[in-house]
Amino acid sequence: MWKVGDFEFPEHEWQFPNKGAIESEEKLYYHLMTKKDIEDRLAKNDVIFVPVGSTENHGNGGPVGEDTLIVTRIAEMVCRKVGSTILSPIWFGSHPFHHIGQACTIPIPDQYFIDYLRSIITGLWNTGYRKMIFMSLHGQEYSLPVAIQEWGKKYQVPAMIYFVDFPRIMGGTLMDKKHGGPYDRPFQHACEAEQSISLALFPEFCDPENAENTETGGLLPPGHIDRGGDIYGNPIPGHCVMGNAVIECVSHPEGVLGHARDADASKAKDSIRKVCDYLLQLHNDILKTCPVGKLPDPQKFSMRDPAELDLLIKGVRNGGRHIYTLGWPC
Ligand SMILES: [Zn+2]
Repeated sequence: MWKVGDFEFPEHEWQFPNKGAIESEEKLYYHLMTKKDIEDRLAKNDVIFVPVGSTENHGNGGPVGEDTLIVTRIAEMVCRKVGSTILSPIWFGSHPFHHIGQACTIPIPDQYFIDYLRSIITGLWNTGYRKMIFMSLHGQEYSLPVAIQEWGKKYQVPAMIYFVDFPRIMGGTLMDKKHGGPYDRPFQHACEAEQSISLALFPEFCDPENAENTETGGLLPPGHIDRGGDIYGNPIPGHCVMGNAVIECVSHPEGVLGHARDADASKAKDSIRKVCDYLLQLHNDILKTCPVGKLPDPQKFSMRDPAELDLLIKGVRNGGRHIYTLGWPC
């Protein structure tokens, strides 16, 4: 059994690494499906997984799309099992200040990133995917929830939208040995932990022979600011700080924060299995609570006029109204 907070769920068998499915006849992904494929899929399973990644420097040992590939490969394993859809991955994301200027990194300003996500949620809802599971290993835990909340406040229609922040689920399996985890050092970025996850999921894009080791540290003594993934419970989460870490393009031009050379796929197995099991549990609980085609009771989740809500929920395909009649997403 895995434990996340007070919640316990069973362990299943997961096989990895696998071949990626972004361009595959399996049609796990939204961008590979026809209109009919989407209609058929929605009739069987109306949950969509939304992998949110980033494009950034991961040193010489890992690809710049590592954060995106980690979430897509995990989504693929879960969706193969449950038969739901994966949205085309979001390759570019939000970054903290100390990432800016790093070569190979392509940061998106938060207001555009959040608006982009809100527009995606709107299009998915209009298509009939009204149960969404956003997922990220790249933090963005200050911007993804804003997108979801602002979307809810704007449209006020029933939906089930969740953001799963992978490090929070991985918890102890992502920690260093001193805290019961498998690694010599805490999870940071492109480090022993992240490179181990990548080697376990897509070794074909990793180059461990060229991986680098670097040392890390901040301005204040250790203990104030939480470490990577904000899983240690230190008083101040990493995204709540600006100016405690030297800018990485100066301090770590390698693009690595930690010992990437110590990475080993076997160290990452529990983190991957645990997050897959949690996503499976979340998916199953969503459909148990609101079976395919059903939504939470509109009268309990919105004060919009019931007749208008009825037309919006029917949507354009069933003689109703599209969601943009309520306004443009941003
Ligand atoms: Zn990364």
